[in-house]
Amino acid sequence: MIPGGDPALQRSVGALVGLAVGDALGAPVEGLPRDSYPPVSDLGSGEGTDDTGMAICLAESLLETGFLDPADLLRRFVLWYRSGGRGLSTTTRAVLEAFESTGRLDAAHDAANAGNGCIMRLAPVAIRYRGDPRAAREVAEAQARVTHVAEEAIAASACLADILIAGLATGDFEAMAEAAAAVRHPSLAGIAALDWRTKPRGSISSAPRAVDTLEAALWCVAQNESFEAAVLAAVHLGGDTDTIAAVTGQLAGALYGVSAIPPHWVERLEVAPRLVDLAIRLHGAAPEPAPPRSTPETRAVGPASCGS
Ligand SMILES: [Mg+2]
Repeated sequence: MIPGGDPALQRSVGALVGLAVGDALGAPVEGLPRDSYPPVSDLGSGEGTDDTGMAICLAESLLETGFLDPADLLRRFVLWYRSGGRGLSTTTRAVLEAFESTGRLDAAHDAANAGNGCIMRLAPVAIRYRGDPRAAREVAEAQARVTHVAEEAIAASACLADILIAGLATGDFEAMAEAAAAVRHPSLAGIAALDWRTKPRGSISSAPRAVDTLEAALWCVAQNESFEAAVLAAVHLGGDTDTIAAVTGQLAGALYGVSAIPPHWVERLEVAPRLVDLAIRLHGAAPEPAPPRSTPETRAVGPASCGS
């Protein structure tokens, strides 16, 4: 079921399976204060939350509509939620319920949601548009707007798309850091300054704000040298553990590839075969990425600044 060979495909599958592995590892301790629980070392039931559920909705919507269709995406979110999907924030639940009862596509405008729900599900966008960073940013922002209107959350989505695409293209953490450093949005100044590379653990927030979660996930990947260690570091930050670990899992999966995810975790993940299939299809639907930014000519089309 796991593809061998092609390292680029391995990284695409790693980003999506990594998301779900992180979600399932973090879910049992979600909301607990940092260092108030015994270290997590294994995946329990393998059940994920809204992070995985909404990522599947986004992947299937992109594949079936061929683009980002907010109405189609919202319908899938509602269907997932009504079939027992768990973990939604109050704000996102209100958006889905408003869409369900009124058909309004702009229900997200009722509250300035700066939460991390728009980045927890993002991997399908990066895989599908890995060959076209500009389109990836636009789609990352458009899928965010479906449930989140706060400008900083939308900017964080575009930024994560840039960083993931750099990882998917190269498997090189320095390339991912370079993409982060290119951020131009004022809300993401700390991420662009690469503060997260050297911050002490006590300065990393585990609050459910998109900007904080993106920084925490980057910190987890920077501080560790394997998929397993990075994702467990995220789970141990406390607070919004499932989503911090889901974002860390996307980054570390894109960096190291699916073969670096402990196989017994993948086996315990009920949705793994579905995610592998979706990632392979999204990967196949993408044009091949432009060459790395090694010359001034290719610089213009490579992963560029966030929030533009
Ligand atoms: Mg969740």
